[in-house]
Amino acid sequence: MEFSVLANSFYKMESTRKRLELTQFLVELFEKTPIEVISKIVYLIQGKLRPDFEGVELGVAEKIAIKSISKSSGIAIKKIEEEYRKGGDLGHAASVILEQKTQMTFLAEDITVERVYETLFRIANLEGSRSQDMKMKYISSLLNDATPMEASYILKILLGSLRLGIAENTVMDALAITFSGDKKNRSVLQHAYNVSSDLGKVAETVAEKGMKGVEKFEIALFNPIRPMLADRVKSEEETLEKFGERFAAEYKLDGERVQLHIKGKEVLLFSRSLENISSYYPDIIEKIPENILAENIILEAEAVAINENTGEFLPFQELMHRRRKYKIEKAVTQYPITVNLFDILYCNGKSCLELGYEERREKLEKNVKEDNFTKYIPMSVIKNKSEIEEFMENSINSGSEGLMLKMLDKPYQAGSRGSHWLKLKREYQNELGDSLDLVVIGGFFGKGRRTGSYGTLLLATYDEDEDTFTSICKVGTGFSDEDLDQIYQILNPKVTIKKNPRITSEMEADVWFEPELVIEVVASEITLSPIHKAAINKIRKGAGLALRFPKFTGKIRIEKAVEDASTNEEIVALYNGQKKVAHEKNLM
Ligand code: ATP
Repeated sequence: MEFSVLANSFYKMESTRKRLELTQFLVELFEKTPIEVISKIVYLIQGKLRPDFEGVELGVAEKIAIKSISKSSGIAIKKIEEEYRKGGDLGHAASVILEQKTQMTFLAEDITVERVYETLFRIANLEGSRSQDMKMKYISSLLNDATPMEASYILKILLGSLRLGIAENTVMDALAITFSGDKKNRSVLQHAYNVSSDLGKVAETVAEKGMKGVEKFEIALFNPIRPMLADRVKSEEETLEKFGERFAAEYKLDGERVQLHIKGKEVLLFSRSLENISSYYPDIIEKIPENILAENIILEAEAVAINENTGEFLPFQELMHRRRKYKIEKAVTQYPITVNLFDILYCNGKSCLELGYEERREKLEKNVKEDNFTKYIPMSVIKNKSEIEEFMENSINSGSEGLMLKMLDKPYQAGSRGSHWLKLKREYQNELGDSLDLVVIGGFFGKGRRTGSYGTLLLATYDEDEDTFTSICKVGTGFSDEDLDQIYQILNPKVTIKKNPRITSEMEADVWFEPELVIEVVASEITLSPIHKAAINKIRKGAGLALRFPKFTGKIRIEKAVEDASTNEEIVALYNGQKKVAHEKNLM
């Protein structure tokens, strides 16, 4: 397939943010795409080469890109840098520069999507001392044969700056329309995506085998399953109202959610946002095979830091020490953990998702042995208020955050925040009722003691419909000096010259960041706001929602993707909830 077809689509898609238009452009593109390349196209549209969980990173530095442009155009590096500074987009700068070159030389052969993809893939896999030279060689060979417009998109993919703002749902809408003529069939694709986390594979299956083929889509070991999430409740009473007579309660441990894929001694671990985190937990990889009685299995657990002497659970932050590339062995002994299993998703080649909770728990206990390191999460079947209160008390006393409440007969709903699981945290009973996970989009330089760091951050919620990040508050309290230092180290490389188009904010920050970091805040209230854009027009026309007295809780949510941050829908629900509480208080 000619790369120009894809480049032309990119050009059209860049001109709009409207979901319907983007869907239409995608349908037109998929109609022209041969089956063998459709998965590659799906990854490239999202600026990737493979699904996220494979961790294939392009990692090309701007410097290398500039040198490559210079090599293939014969134009001085300085001139390219000047052009780049004008617009802040190297892809665009390259197209301007190469425009000058094509006036002088002939174009070589047409480039294909396959060739671009293969070359990018090779670049991503280069390692070692000569890798920079090789990268330059590969990039300039592509640029030599590319038209200026094609070159601009090749560079954007390489630098990770192709931001078409196409959400996974939009890709699935377009696939459903292209291959079945009906957007409603997205739910079939959604299921396949939920159990594979690989949109390219889903696209290839529907292109090759149609909707019927996708219906037969099965879980594959070592492909992560998108996690089931919980709704929140504020009190024991609310839980009983929602769940009735008999349900399961488990400790809600404050650790890191880990999905374990195991076959013999082969083990892969995935985080809540489906990143491969195997390297942070060599102790799990080494020990867990001993506990497994099945031939192959997919389990879910909370990995929790513990005090080795007392066995007490320690807070989530302790696990941060394991997020390192080097000297991990030392971190493993200094910060010991236990693995606390709470679900089984696959066993001996068969999916367990369709089984009810009770059957899954039984299967889990049958196929995994407990010991000091690997345990089943504490669970109790609850029948009344005093039982839930007592279990909550035990949970908090052991160092947990609260309870997870699960309906006994319900299946595992991969990738959805349903009402079959609830979470009840102690802190819910005051103020807003919950902490929020917000995306850091901008920063304001600190003064006084805070000089040299970002003293205040601009935060945003996630707008699921538009796939954007909408500003909700500025936060400057709750940070220790150590926090500020750490946050600066994380955010500094994410500073951008221009505001990312997925950010919706009318505030003017000192600097804008790539929306990549999620932090946790609490606040006293949600109010209507003329400035902030979260849930704009949802409560009142022209008004968004803002947080009053927001405060950082000390938790950097490294395990969360920005799309997992609190959504506008959740903020609206909290806003309505707080109105109801105020109303009830007034009546008392
Ligand atoms: P939170 O911010 O409250 O941790 P979340 O958005 O990460 O929530 P939810 O599904 O809403 O995810 O809450 C469940 C989270 O709690 C899981 O992601 C998991 O990390 C953790 N957890 C702790 N104990 C359990 C348990 N027994 N069952 C399921 N999840 C548990």
